[in-house]
Amino acid sequence: MKVRYSPLEQQFADVDDVFDELKALVRSTDFTLGTVVGEFEEMFAAAVGSKYAIGVGSGTDALKIPLKALGIGPGDEVITAANTFYATAGAIAETGARIVFVDCDDTFGIDPDLIEAAITPRTKAIMPVHLTGDMANMTRITGIAEKHGLKVVEDACQSLLAKEAGRPAGTWGIAGGFSMHPLKIINVWGDAGVIVTDDPEMDRMCRLLRNHGLRNRDEMEILGYNTRLDSVQAVVGKWIVAKVGDIVAARIRNAARYDAGFADVPEITLPVRRAVKGESERSVYLNYVVFAERRDELLSHCQANGIDAKVHYPIALYKQDALRHLGYEDGAFPVTDRHAETIISFPADQHLTAEQIDYLIGVVREFYGR
Ligand SMILES: *Cc1c(COP(=O)(O)O)cnc(C)c1O
Repeated sequence: MKVRYSPLEQQFADVDDVFDELKALVRSTDFTLGTVVGEFEEMFAAAVGSKYAIGVGSGTDALKIPLKALGIGPGDEVITAANTFYATAGAIAETGARIVFVDCDDTFGIDPDLIEAAITPRTKAIMPVHLTGDMANMTRITGIAEKHGLKVVEDACQSLLAKEAGRPAGTWGIAGGFSMHPLKIINVWGDAGVIVTDDPEMDRMCRLLRNHGLRNRDEMEILGYNTRLDSVQAVVGKWIVAKVGDIVAARIRNAARYDAGFADVPEITLPVRRAVKGESERSVYLNYVVFAERRDELLSHCQANGIDAKVHYPIALYKQDALRHLGYEDGAFPVTDRHAETIISFPADQHLTAEQIDYLIGVVREFYGR
């Protein structure tokens, strides 16, 4: 049996209604910031439960633009998790601010106990990352931010519809950024990102910044960027955001099936999940990640058996050549390092079948002789 990583082929197998709307879009020639972008933004804001949603070109820009809107730039510092995807660091670096990493804990979120030691007079913001679909500890992080007068911009790229204490990812800070890249919870046909906020001034600034800083056709209020959500992608976005509730429900069901299958395998340890079962806490399982003994051997064993397992991420960001200039010593983030050596990711998406999950569980059990 094959267990592929990406569900895109199945997700977009039957898209005649998208093609119909695309045809109408082409005939209308409403290609930039047209009606459909506004329609998509309204649907996205409603799905997340935010006042405003602003469509941009990528998830990376959905992080960079709110930081720019806050006036963050050279000389400032932004604290983020050491165990994140490249783009979190890239977005901070693009503003000119310094990236300050803080280690994670076994929830995969930034460790709230370590944040205060990383705050300096230059710190302007914290960018927590809701990694793998589970929430960073937002109750504590927003408390620390408030105490020190810092802004919080959430990297919610992996965690659309996750929630803590009944409050969704992206709505805890002044703004949150989401991605609709093909590997995220909902996907378009290329790159796209969305910023959410409840703050009218943040909304206004993000709209200016995504479109050359233009107040109107003839007046440029500030220097900005060209990072509008493409109208073509907004058509696809409308189609898929309407399905996000079902997508997330299927992912949660799949994770529960894995949990049961691994419950009596001592070589597999589940992460500490902040989102316990219940209506007010929710992990959306972008992927199903566990700690595994003899991880590299297990990874090869899975791959040899047709299972496209992965590691997110095998090399900690602070050890990447691109970020050596930050000056972190090897071993500076021991939990992140341990994760890089012991975690393995399996798919949890909505198109995975129960048979595929059971097969995968069987292959892992066999590997450990269970
Ligand atoms: C994917 C991702 C991003 C960036 O999104 P893009 O749409 O690829 O630019 C940022 N942060 C995290 C944690 C991500 O997983």
